[in-house]
Amino acid sequence: MDEISEFSKDLRNKISDIAYIGNLEVLRRQRSADGTEKFLFGLEDKQTIESVLIPEKDRLTLCISSQVGCAMGCRFCRTGKKGLVRDLRAWEIVDQVLSVNRLYSPKKVTNIVLMGMGEPLANFDEVVESLKRIVSYTGISKRKITLSTAGLVPKITALAGKAPDINLAISLNATTDEVRDRLMPVNRKYPIQALIKACRNFPLKSHRAITFEYVLIAGMNDSPEDARRLVRLLKGIRCKVNLIPLNPHEGSDLQRPSVAGVLAFQKILTDHDVTAFIRESKGQDILAACGQLRGSYSEKASSDMPERSI
Ligand code: SF4
Repeated sequence: MDEISEFSKDLRNKISDIAYIGNLEVLRRQRSADGTEKFLFGLEDKQTIESVLIPEKDRLTLCISSQVGCAMGCRFCRTGKKGLVRDLRAWEIVDQVLSVNRLYSPKKVTNIVLMGMGEPLANFDEVVESLKRIVSYTGISKRKITLSTAGLVPKITALAGKAPDINLAISLNATTDEVRDRLMPVNRKYPIQALIKACRNFPLKSHRAITFEYVLIAGMNDSPEDARRLVRLLKGIRCKVNLIPLNPHEGSDLQRPSVAGVLAFQKILTDHDVTAFIRESKGQDILAACGQLRGSYSEKASSDMPERSI
C-alpha cells in the first residue's frame, strides 16, 4: 500500500487498516500433452499450492486448492501424504482464479472445482467467503462451481445454509465402512450411512444432482458386489457417479483396475438407472491428475514435459 504514492499518507493508512493487497506468485507452469496446465503458486510465507486448468471445447475449468497440504490422509492421494500445513485465506483461494484469468486473458475461467489440494470443508469459513468473492469478482455463476468433500458430515449440512447454490461432489470411493475406513480415515468419524444421510438431506435445486466420485482401485472397491451395493446406497438420491480409474503415485501399493473391470462396473450402475461416467483424469504426465497434486517446488518436474518457469 505504501508504494501507491498517488494516495496521501493519511488515505494509505486508512486503507491499510481495512484492506490488504495480496498476489500469488506464479513459480512454475507445466503443460500436459492433453492441454491441461498445472500452476505452482508461491504464497507469502514461502508455502506453495497447485491449481490445474483443464481446457475443453467451450469451457475452461480451474481446479483450485483450499489448503496447503491436507489432514485427511486418503490413501490414494499424494496431497494427503504431506499432511496439513495450513488453511488458505479466502484471498489466496480467489487469487488462483484471478491469476489464471490474467495469464489467459482475454479468455477467462468458466468453471471452478474445489478438488485441488486440501479438504475445502475443513477450511469452511474462508472457503465460503472465497466463493462469494469469486462470484462477485469474476461473474462465474454458482452453478458453475463444484465443491468436493471427503465427507465432513456436519459441514455438508452447514454448506447447504451458507452456499446452497453451488454443486456438491462427494469423494465416496467405497461401499462398506470396512474398506472406506482403510482408504479414507475420515470415515471412522463419519461413516458411510451418516454421509449418505447428509446427502439425502442436502437441499438440491431442480435440475441439479450430487456427484459421487468413485476412484476405482483393483481388488479393493471394484467388484460387481461393490457396484450393486453402490446402487443400493444411492437409491433415491438425485445423483451421478464419476468412476475414476486410480492414478497410482510413486510409493503407493494400490493398483489401477483393468479397462474391462471398469466397464463392467459402469454397466452394473447404468443397468440400474444410475448415471455413471468414466473419467480419465487429465494431466497425468505432469502429475496434475486427481490425487496427484503435491505443491512442492523442490520436487523435480515430472517426465519430459516442457516446464516453464516464470
Ligand atoms: S483426496 Fe482430497 S481430502 Fe483426501 S487427502 Fe487428498 S486432498 Fe485431502
